[in-house]
Amino acid sequence: MKCTTVRPGFECSFMTEKGCSYKDGQCYPVVEQCEGCERTKEFDGKKYCLSYPEPAIKWAHKACNFATHVKAVVDNTGKVKVNPLKASKRAARGR
Ligand code: SF4
Repeated sequence: MKCTTVRPGFECSFMTEKGCSYKDGQCYPVVEQCEGCERTKEFDGKKYCLSYPEPAIKWAHKACNFATHVKAVVDNTGKVKVNPLKASKRAARGR
């Protein structure tokens, strides 16, 4: 259904006829790590993710798997690192 709360008009799987079914009946603004992602959009002065209702959870333990601006890589110690690969390629092409 289409959102009628913080992202009005956008299709959302959490929207029901009784309103938003996500935590506290709303979604949450993006976090610092989302800066540069193409899935962010501003609504009423705040930026939200168009794909996920609570971006902080997506970044809590590793890089967001929906992100368009970074790519998660696993180094040789097994740790997940964020590689801003896509952003650097775009910058090199002058976009
Ligand atoms: S897709 Fe991930 S990185 Fe992009 S805005 Fe949403 S939560 Fe943030």
